[in-house]
Amino acid sequence: MTIQTPYYLMDMAALRRNMETVARLREMSGAKALLALKCFATWSVFDLMRDYMDGTTSSSLYELRLGREKFGKETHAYSVAWADHEIDEAIGYADKIIFNSLSQLDRFGERAAHIGRGLRLNPRFSTSGFDLADPARPFSRLGEWDMDRLSAARDRIDGVMIHYNCENSDFDLFSTQLDRIEGDFGAFLKQLDWVSLGGGIHFTGEGYPLDRLADRLKAFSDRLGGQVYLEPGEASITGTATLEVSVLDILDVGKQIAIVDSSIEAHMLDLLIYRETAKLPQTGAHAYQIAGKTCLAGDIFGEGRFPKPLTIGDRISIADAAGYTMVKKNWFNGVNMPSIAIRDEDGTIRLVRSFTYDDYRDSLS
Ligand SMILES: *Cc1c(COP(=O)(O)O)cnc(C)c1O
Repeated sequence: MTIQTPYYLMDMAALRRNMETVARLREMSGAKALLALKCFATWSVFDLMRDYMDGTTSSSLYELRLGREKFGKETHAYSVAWADHEIDEAIGYADKIIFNSLSQLDRFGERAAHIGRGLRLNPRFSTSGFDLADPARPFSRLGEWDMDRLSAARDRIDGVMIHYNCENSDFDLFSTQLDRIEGDFGAFLKQLDWVSLGGGIHFTGEGYPLDRLADRLKAFSDRLGGQVYLEPGEASITGTATLEVSVLDILDVGKQIAIVDSSIEAHMLDLLIYRETAKLPQTGAHAYQIAGKTCLAGDIFGEGRFPKPLTIGDRISIADAAGYTMVKKNWFNGVNMPSIAIRDEDGTIRLVRSFTYDDYRDSLS
């Protein structure tokens, strides 16, 4: 079957490999793993993921509801701030609700007394090098750190969520920072039933010392006497999808440029925000800049190399299109929204969703 580009292509074999790593980590460490939906919410593949993970965690009412309806199992509700009109519905979907601040706990905690309640703890350090994504940035609004405020919450919570890693592939750094958390907050954490260490640990990456991570998590859990949770987003789905595009035009402006039927701003927005370049083919003598079709001057995926000169209609596959990519696609410039297709483990490709003019029209009024 030929599917019209652009489309995101999920690779089920790659996804299962990641899931097997998640399951191995759970078994070896005793930690539970919840999929962070803000990173990846392509629910047509949840049937595969569900067998390997314990449930989902969320950043809003809609993510929470999607987790409850499409993934099931354990469902954690977190939001930087719940609104009055959302809170009862949120509590209705959640097994545990994690408040971002003491004031939100004060406001809504009583109504959630029949489910698990937690608070976000901000250890005031992180592994993020990027200000925009650094929960420990100056004047951060993400979580509580003051021991008096944490103590004031003590009788109303049974756990905390501490999210401070960001694509951290350095196990020793993870371990030293966990030492710091034990040192600074250990006495408090010992009084709780569970601690979530959030996401951002790149344990499905090539060469990551999974055994050492498992041992370290187990030691942490033994010392504190509670259940440890992880909330892997990117680690769950890294390397499991591509964005498939076609060449529409080729220009020579002192540099060879191939314009494709997609856009970095509309379909791979995170690359633009974090000023990274797309993962493009890099083998061959023929170099091109791969650019998007919007009128944004800097709508550029990056530089690619190909074995033969590109021609109109050639397909290009852009790697790593799962995390923080499909969840951020948008209708900028009215560019066709990429369809979603799945490559099953037997190699067959099926289309699971396509978008039309009506979807574009109905996203506004
Ligand atoms: C973003 C986020 C995650 C997932 O982070 P990854 O880097 O994708 O693993 C988990 N928990 C919380 C609270 C988050 O904000």
